[in-house]
Amino acid sequence: MADSHEEADVVVVGGGIVGVSIAVHLQMRGRQTVLLDRQGPGEATSFGNAGLIQREAVYPHLFPRNLGDLLRYAGNRTPDSYYHPTMLPRLMRPFLGYWYHSAPDRYLAIARNYARLIAHCVEDHMTLAEAADARRLLRPGGWTMAHETETSLAAAVATAETAWRDFGVEYRALDAAALAQEEPHLRPGLAGGLQWTQPVAVIDPHALTLAYTRLFERLGGRVRIGDARTLARSGAGWQVAAEEGAVTAEQAVVALGAWSPVVTKPLGYDPPIFVKRGYHMHYKPDGNAGLNHAVFDVANGYMLAPMRRGIRLTTGAEFAHRDAPPTPVQLGRVEPAARRLMPSLGTRVDPAPWVGARPCTPDMLPIIGAAPGQPGLWYDFGHGHQGLTLGPTTGRLLAAMMTGDVPFTDPSAYRPERF
Ligand SMILES: Cc1cc2nc3c(=O)[nH]c(=O)nc-3n(C[C@H](O)[C@H](O)[C@H](O)COP(=O)(O)OP(=O)(O)OC[C@H]3O[C@@H](n4cnc5c(N)ncnc54)[C@H](O)[C@@H]3O)c2cc1C
Repeated sequence: MADSHEEADVVVVGGGIVGVSIAVHLQMRGRQTVLLDRQGPGEATSFGNAGLIQREAVYPHLFPRNLGDLLRYAGNRTPDSYYHPTMLPRLMRPFLGYWYHSAPDRYLAIARNYARLIAHCVEDHMTLAEAADARRLLRPGGWTMAHETETSLAAAVATAETAWRDFGVEYRALDAAALAQEEPHLRPGLAGGLQWTQPVAVIDPHALTLAYTRLFERLGGRVRIGDARTLARSGAGWQVAAEEGAVTAEQAVVALGAWSPVVTKPLGYDPPIFVKRGYHMHYKPDGNAGLNHAVFDVANGYMLAPMRRGIRLTTGAEFAHRDAPPTPVQLGRVEPAARRLMPSLGTRVDPAPWVGARPCTPDMLPIIGAAPGQPGLWYDFGHGHQGLTLGPTTGRLLAAMMTGDVPFTDPSAYRPERF
């Protein structure tokens, strides 16, 4: 570390989509902000997701509660979930909470609190993307769940009508012909699709995080490289060691996604964060084949998303240690299904599968608010399956709380003290 020393109003540790969004919103409110990451912004989980700003995702992913599903997942052979058996003892504590919060009445209350954030996701991204001159990275038009059977399609449409509409979520039911017209490169013979029409697709999530980072810098923010584990109290404020020198600030924010407990635990806060890892691989389709929207294969639990680099296949949940070497078992399981769904999927582009870690909480809600017992310290992490979706929205919420503005929604459901 160099011997210099810089001061700021706020230091945000963690430069994923969540930390970058907080930093932009603080800087917009005139707070001199330093954003610190151990690598370049957006190079961890925010790099490789499916790129969907999910306006439809008012119901977070729950823990299965019926015996049949539990036995199926316990068998460890499903395409959408895979676990390292050695992880089971560590997962007991978060899974008990996850199971508890997935009971129908509790889950509905959680969905209501989640929906209050989700409702703003598209507008909040559009505002930042406009200011960052990054609208070209966003593709409005929604995404589609492809169904193999009439029965599963009919059930999905019925559920969308009864459970989603009330939350202002819009969709279109596509019969076999309509789906074939929308996506002519999917195999014939599918029953149809359910298309969520409000979500926006990002064609390069890493580029979007970088564009928001450039906006932050244009507003006067500073980006530094350093290890967030050096974060410590310094007088009435906080200090962290950057390669360029020490940074001191009146306030600090932890936005380290799956790595947040590494910093919060020594400060006395040990939330039951667990990770659902996920993989991606890009494919170069044959000839001029392609997809017009991201397509989720309902029967097999993976997504195909058209991106700048090719068709990005993203997998479901892997329960493994956050930092364990990649074990892309699920990619191996679903790739044959993807080739059946889209026969012209083509050749692999990446030299190796990418892996990322979704930071999950047992009650499926992010942790946002003042750190218990640590004046001047704030938390914003645990965005699970929807961190890209919610980064700008929770960033705006936290920035308002930190600067004494009236938050756009009651933040008490997300308070850190609940764990
Ligand atoms: C396969 C897959 C598909 C997904 N698809 C979607 C989707 O379509 N839509 C959606 O909304 N979400 C999706 N997600 C979830 C989303 O990607 C995450 O919720 C989101 O990226 C989390 O952002 P974050 O900023 O909290 O964490 P991260 O992006 O992981 O950022 C954390 C940062 O902390 C830094 N860091 C860690 N330790 C230290 C340290 N000691 N010192 C300094 N810095 C440190 C890291 O370098 C990193 O930059 C998907 C996830 C996966 C894995």
